[in-house]
Amino acid sequence: MMSSYLENTPDKNGYFGKFGGSFIPPVLEKPFEDIKNAYEKIKKDPQFIEDLKYVRKHYQGRPTPISFAKNLTQHCAGAKIYLKREDLNHTGAHKLNHCMAEVILAKHMGFKKVIAETGAGQHGVALATAAAYFGLECEIHMGEVDIKKEHPNVTRMKILGAKVIPATHGLKTLKEAVDSAFESYINQVDTAIYCIGSVVGPHPFPMMVRDFQSIMSLEAKEQFLEHEKKLPDNVIACIGGGSNAMGIFAHFIDEEDIELYGVEPMGKGENIGEHSATLSYGEEGIMHGFNSIMLKDAKGEPAPVHSIGSGIDYPSVGPEHAYLKEIGRTKVGLCTDEEAITAFYKLSQLEGIIPALESAHAVAFAMKLAKTLPKDKTILVNLSGRGDKDIDFVIENYPLEKL
Ligand SMILES: *Cc1c(COP(=O)(O)O)cnc(C)c1O
Repeated sequence: MMSSYLENTPDKNGYFGKFGGSFIPPVLEKPFEDIKNAYEKIKKDPQFIEDLKYVRKHYQGRPTPISFAKNLTQHCAGAKIYLKREDLNHTGAHKLNHCMAEVILAKHMGFKKVIAETGAGQHGVALATAAAYFGLECEIHMGEVDIKKEHPNVTRMKILGAKVIPATHGLKTLKEAVDSAFESYINQVDTAIYCIGSVVGPHPFPMMVRDFQSIMSLEAKEQFLEHEKKLPDNVIACIGGGSNAMGIFAHFIDEEDIELYGVEPMGKGENIGEHSATLSYGEEGIMHGFNSIMLKDAKGEPAPVHSIGSGIDYPSVGPEHAYLKEIGRTKVGLCTDEEAITAFYKLSQLEGIIPALESAHAVAFAMKLAKTLPKDKTILVNLSGRGDKDIDFVIENYPLEKL
């Protein structure tokens, strides 16, 4: 029998080629080993599989549909554009796909509390939601800058019963939130579990989060056949840490004719500090416990990064993305802040869907690609989340009349 990519990757130590692994202080070795062993066991447990299916169907709103973007396709006058509607998940993004599963795992392991970082606040809201549903305490670390920018999500987390702790050092965004969350976790490993928000961090998180997110491509394969009687020619997703991209790529990786594009934020320009296009401009390096491609400053430290998408301004990237790019299975697309804003307004006005600024990067790249392809080709865009959280920021900084 042909063995599939997903079953064989990563290796047992969490390596995707040379990327991944686990680089953690000795105090965390046992807790992460325990998480790995618990996950290996639970993922084959029929009860876990049933519990997860149940919450996804009866609470979260899965399966999410695939919508044909008829007007956007007409506007671009090229390949047909379809959207996987992760914006329709409860809490408005793909994050609940792994948060519900991580919290079931936490509960199974006997923990009373979950700890995590958040960028745009989407992971924090999703984890606070899952913690509320399953009756666990929740502690969320968030950069002070993001707290101001993504204010509605901070309020949501508090209403949901989570404790929000501001990260006040450095640039005060996603990277600093991860630093702060790790520091707090080290002091409470006996009662709490770290729930990483993307396919990043030490083994087993990149694999575990990918597996939980792969539900999107599992559904999409069947749904796309219903629309087109064939699989998509291209699959596109934005990349921050890379969880929504890994999830929508997962079950298409073995289909070698399908082009897989991860779209990185080019922000305001090519200089350090103006973008977060890690795979395009980074080099190999270890950060936050795993080896991957990383954006470095002159001293070799994590570089300052920028994107208008608060969930995608991260100076590293999931190790599996570094690997898939290196072996040539995936390609990288780029999208500037301005292009993302244009796509944000276009999708809103042509399709009646306000996308998250992160997802708008994938839409923008899909629009560029569609224009270069004939009309019988197809593109599936992962619409990772809805844009309600971004509307104030967009309207203040990029007023409608400027378009
Ligand atoms: C968090 C988030 C992202 C970025 O995270 P990935 O792990 O790269 O998917 C993208 N889109 C939305 C809507 C998000 O909330």
